[in-house]
Amino acid sequence: MLPLVALVGRPNVGKSTLFNALTRSRDGLVHDEPGVTRDRHYGVCRPEGKPSFAVVDTGGIAGEDEGLAGATARQARSAAEEADLVLFIVDGREGASALDDEILAWLRKTARPTTLVINKIDGIDAQAARNDFARYGFNDVITVSSAHRQGIDELIDSSLARLPEAGAATELDSDPSRIRIAFIG
Ligand code: GDP
Ligand code: MG
Repeated sequence: MLPLVALVGRPNVGKSTLFNALTRSRDGLVHDEPGVTRDRHYGVCRPEGKPSFAVVDTGGIAGEDEGLAGATARQARSAAEEADLVLFIVDGREGASALDDEILAWLRKTARPTTLVINKIDGIDAQAARNDFARYGFNDVITVSSAHRQGIDELIDSSLARLPEAGAATELDSDPSRIRIAFIG
């Protein structure tokens, strides 16, 4: 079974766009109007020469317009709770909002490994965006532009490093039971 990465965030931060960038799918629909996204919820990220992992767009599940309290939002929450890694997506242009704070508080309770992903950094100062979210206290922060595929490879590498099953497939030498043979001469 592939490790699962959940995309979590308030409406319109770019979850579906990031989902498409990660899964390279063209069949997900991205809309300007929040809450109207009708897309695939699950996909697979298959980076070349690296382990694959599954991706779930929890906004797609929740329908997004119901917020965290909505009935179908429960499904999105359980998807995030089952994930091996949560990518908490925020909007670098708009900065931190009350709904971001609310999602953050919930994520802290779930205690899943979480990376803060600051999206929409195309044409803005990425460092200023980082500063704006510094109070969220994340050790793992990646800035991306999902729409322009900036920072996506870095996000994939960072995610793989935090997914133990995926990482195990690339680091054969990390198994201490393996016999090491040195050719000297
Ligand atoms: P979701 O509601 O979180 O799934 O967000 P969407 O993926 O539907 O995107 C919402 C809006 O933000 C759309 O108009 C996207 O084109 C736009 N958007 C998404 N990613 C980026 C980005 O990296 N840069 C910019 N400038 N706009 C983006
Ligand atoms: Mg969406």
